[in-house]
Amino acid sequence: MKIKLALLLMICPYPSWSQERRPETCSYEVYNWNIHKKRAVNFARIKHPYSELKAEEKDLSSGCTVCVEDQELVELDGIKPFYVCRKLSAAVREALKKLAAAGEPVLEVEAYRPGRTKNPLGKDGDRLGFSNHAYGAAVDINRSRNGLYDNCPRFGPGCRLIQGGPWRTGVKGTLTRDCGIVRGMKEAGFEWGGEIEGAQKDFMHFSLSGY
Ligand SMILES: [Zn+2]
Repeated sequence: MKIKLALLLMICPYPSWSQERRPETCSYEVYNWNIHKKRAVNFARIKHPYSELKAEEKDLSSGCTVCVEDQELVELDGIKPFYVCRKLSAAVREALKKLAAAGEPVLEVEAYRPGRTKNPLGKDGDRLGFSNHAYGAAVDINRSRNGLYDNCPRFGPGCRLIQGGPWRTGVKGTLTRDCGIVRGMKEAGFEWGGEIEGAQKDFMHFSLSGY
């Protein structure tokens, strides 16, 4: 299914399925995540011609950008509207609609957040890299029950919660490998952050790579 979505992205760019959409400008409100202060700093409003898009402002694997002009507002019953990359919005919307129709507890969804929250690390502890959320190419589901953990190659007591709420199996809205939400999102072409390799487990998180 992941291959199917990738093929769809190549064959069918938004909106006319034949023409690439080219906004006039690229604008976004950026910030840096500071690892010492543990909060966002250096808020700034960026605006430049779309033709002057820098390499770091576009994610090559999804074709999504940090520009708000490339995001689409998704409005669904029962959850707060959220912006997601236009190239992925149909897949995300359809997957969430199906899950809601099946009675799955999709309680909170967030996607586009154009901050510099990834390494490399700059001076004073500011993170400088854009994450998949900065491109609107990652979706967080039920953040308050599916935290991001560090020091967590396998889930256990040593894992350290660094964002969102604690992950407890058996609670409504908690995501697990075999739950309907994780299965539905995988069917739609997304990988789950609860299954990524490495020291972090991001139980709320879905993207094309899982990171
Ligand atoms: Zn996420």
